[in-house]
Amino acid sequence: MKCDRCEFPIPEGAPVYRRRDANQRGARWIWCAKCAAEESAKKERSRRHALLINPAAFEDEKWDNLCFSFGWRPAAPCAACGRPVINDRLSAKICKRVVCGDECRRALYAAQARERRKLPTRACSVCGKDFEPKRTDARYCSAACKQRAHRARQEAKV
Ligand SMILES: [Zn+2]
Ligand SMILES: [Zn+2]
Ligand SMILES: [Zn+2]
Repeated sequence: MKCDRCEFPIPEGAPVYRRRDANQRGARWIWCAKCAAEESAKKERSRRHALLINPAAFEDEKWDNLCFSFGWRPAAPCAACGRPVINDRLSAKICKRVVCGDECRRALYAAQARERRKLPTRACSVCGKDFEPKRTDARYCSAACKQRAHRARQEAKV
């Protein structure tokens, strides 16, 4: 993953800052920690300056957020890779699952699709216990039950 600001790759596991682009619906900037800190400092400087000129304007928190501060949300782990993800407060709805980028979003969707395709549980033909089959033709809940079935067949032959 690359930082959209400095263009340097963000190492695996390193925090990712995600900022919604206020001018483009749905677009997001991905920043590394260093760029996020630099941008925050830059905004803070212009905020202090603007405050001197027109303090009343700062009563509107949203406007303040939009123009002068990033208001980062607390870091949350990416649901797919676990790296810390920091969204800005402008992202109006915060998703139940936080992801660091499109790659992880795709990975998460794929995992969810796999989960949905999972085979329904069935009863083990030896012990009768319900188990989640890994293959469509699985008949035993465990290697032990498979062994037992095998042994029973052997004994039946004798
Ligand atoms: Zn950067
Ligand atoms: Zn991730
Ligand atoms: Zn069993």
